[in-house]
Amino acid sequence: MKKANLIMLGAPGSGKGTRAVALCEILGIVQVSTGDLFRNNIKGGTELGRLAKSYINRGELVPDDVTAAMVKDRLSKPDTAGGFILDGFPRTLAQARALDEILGELGGEISYALYLDVPDGEIVRRISGRMICSECQAPYHREFNPPKSEGVCDKCGGKLFTREDDMPETVQKRLEVFRSTTLPLVDFYKAKGVLVEIPPELSDRGAVADMREVAEKLGLCAR
Ligand code: AMP
Repeated sequence: MKKANLIMLGAPGSGKGTRAVALCEILGIVQVSTGDLFRNNIKGGTELGRLAKSYINRGELVPDDVTAAMVKDRLSKPDTAGGFILDGFPRTLAQARALDEILGELGGEISYALYLDVPDGEIVRRISGRMICSECQAPYHREFNPPKSEGVCDKCGGKLFTREDDMPETVQKRLEVFRSTTLPLVDFYKAKGVLVEIPPELSDRGAVADMREVAEKLGLCAR
């Protein structure tokens, strides 16, 4: 199997998280979600968590240097050596350049940046049913990906909740930030020749079957 170092690009609510989880399962690689890392720090009451919270609750981005340092620390851990998928990073051109530097130092490179292009109206619909597990952060959706038992995580039995930054006004702000600051990364990775556009729904078979198809097409899947 080809070692996969992947980036998942897409607006908030585009399905990045669900697809990243599916790809990790298929390829046996590690998901690195900056949103999850920040939320874990908030939950743990760390200094980084306190700083991040003030930005996250306003729908703004946490400063580039803080975010890049956290990612560098995570990618330095041995479990990412067999491949990883970055979910929610990079989100700015400065972060994309910092990532090149980090990978240069650690001796790796990006295999593909997978871009989920989802229309705005659809995004609002998707975010408004979203819930995550308070324990393991697994993503759910009332309509598209409901848990077997209401309000309870299928994987760990944790309680599901709606993120504070998924409230409508904050979502609008996050979409603006995405358009102005993150969307230019599509051209950045296109110029590097690693951009792959993924339609929001390839089939009605669910994220795992869709991602298996993508992985096979890209030569990433041995199974
Ligand atoms: P997410 O779970 O990926 O939607 O991230 C939730 C929030 O965490 C974002 O709205 C930002 O406030 C913050 N965040 C996550 N990733 C980044 C990043 N790469 N750069 C800056 N802030 C981030």
